[in-house]
Amino acid sequence: MLTHQTVVDLRDVEFRWEPGGPQVIAIDELTIGRGERLFIKGPSGSGKSTLLSLLGGVTTPQRGEVKVLDTPLQTLSGARRDHFRADHIGFVFQMFNLLPYLSTVQNVLLPCRFSRRRRARALARSGSLEIEALRLLTHLDMADEELLARPVTGLSVGQQQRVAVARALIGAPEMVIADEPTSALDWDRREAFLRLLERECAEQSITLVFVSHDPSLEPLFDRSVALAEINRAAA
Ligand code: ADP
Ligand code: MG
Repeated sequence: MLTHQTVVDLRDVEFRWEPGGPQVIAIDELTIGRGERLFIKGPSGSGKSTLLSLLGGVTTPQRGEVKVLDTPLQTLSGARRDHFRADHIGFVFQMFNLLPYLSTVQNVLLPCRFSRRRRARALARSGSLEIEALRLLTHLDMADEELLARPVTGLSVGQQQRVAVARALIGAPEMVIADEPTSALDWDRREAFLRLLERECAEQSITLVFVSHDPSLEPLFDRSVALAEINRAAA
């Protein structure tokens, strides 16, 4: 087991999408502890998804350093960053990004195709990848045979969300990053979804970073940060 106490350590980061384009991120410091559940709020267009791209090593800053699990991401090649991300970070996207030509179980198992480490962890837990996928889906109330036989495009938004969560959690990555995954739900369902996500993360000591423009979700988290307060670029 890894013993890192700090999962994210971001210092003096400046980022723009294009040379000469507007600065989108200018953050002096952001640290996220192991097992923490952090809410990052900010209006649409304020740079939330951009910040998550930096935390996941999808992009690298022009200045400063983003360390995840003590690894400075900018020292890795693009291919190694992809690998690092697959090994250590689970993503839940706003539109879930489920692959329509794969079954629910195969969607959940996708990270195990890209990460040997997550495959090994899933196997160590349940002895078989399918059984581990079904274990997670059972926790999320999605293991019904009729549901599993449906194409993912035939699932409701709430059900697709659960599949996306199982996919983010499989193989116990150290961090789960969620980019406004509740915007399509009404309040009661948003809260239930969040409780579920938090419970699953807590059980495996997974750090949760959740961004949203919706401040009503804030009380459900350990800590909340307003992006505008830490981001000097958001003037
Ligand atoms: P939020 O997630 O808070 O809505 P974003 O991070 O998506 O904000 O966007 C912040 C700014 O960066 C916006 O001006 C947006 O147009 C720009 N932006 C976001 N993604 C890209 C990209 N892939 N290429 C170029 N500009 C981008
Ligand atoms: Mg966004």
